[in-house]
Amino acid sequence: MKYVRFKADSEIKYGILEGEVIKLIDGNIMGDYRIMDEYYSLSEVNLLAPCQPGKIVCIGLNYLDHAKELDMDLPEEPTIFMKPATAVIGPGDVIEYPEMSNHLDYEAEIAAVIKEEAKNVTVEEVKDYILGYTCLNDITARDLQEEDGQWTRAKSFDTFAPLGPVIATEVDPNDLKIQLFKNGSLKQDSTTAQMICDMEEVVSFISQIMTLEPGDVITTGTPPGTSSTEKGDKLEVKIEGIGSLINSVG
Ligand code: MG
Repeated sequence: MKYVRFKADSEIKYGILEGEVIKLIDGNIMGDYRIMDEYYSLSEVNLLAPCQPGKIVCIGLNYLDHAKELDMDLPEEPTIFMKPATAVIGPGDVIEYPEMSNHLDYEAEIAAVIKEEAKNVTVEEVKDYILGYTCLNDITARDLQEEDGQWTRAKSFDTFAPLGPVIATEVDPNDLKIQLFKNGSLKQDSTTAQMICDMEEVVSFISQIMTLEPGDVITTGTPPGTSSTEKGDKLEVKIEGIGSLINSVG
């Protein structure tokens, strides 16, 4: 199943995407809902970020092929950081290039959307707490990350967390092709099977630190090939079984 959040008739609605058709949902995708006998064509609606996280928890270096590219030692435990909820934008929205920075990078990532409050969840239990998976572009002001020595400013500007286009419930998050295209040319090309800590390990680890709430987003690091982006670029994060998240930089 692929859940979408969208705007139609000046209202925000939820639905299930089947091909090019959205079936309207009445209720809460995190809990009980009814599938209505009402349909929208994908082309006539505006897709929004598929959830509204209270927080976005991210991890640093997590792809074997990326660690090799950087010639870095593998971390013993994941390095975590956060992006604020105010950084979220949806498919088609513009990533705003901040005046404070002269170097933005894109980072294609697969992210989990939490379905139920999760604290101290074991690796084996994690799946019961996840609604599904989506694409996230972890936009980073690389110059500010280096200048500050910690990551909050570099990762937190408004629009720095493009999210979507759907929440896919039936994919194996640890075995999907993940790519980033900049202006149509392939820049990142890997598989989530290269993740050092897999999806369940990442979510379990973070749940040992903080309570995860419905709608929260956990993102899992980026494969090799992250590089800079300029105003006017079109960025596409494409993950097998989920879809393409496309945003321009402005
Ligand atoms: Mg990242």
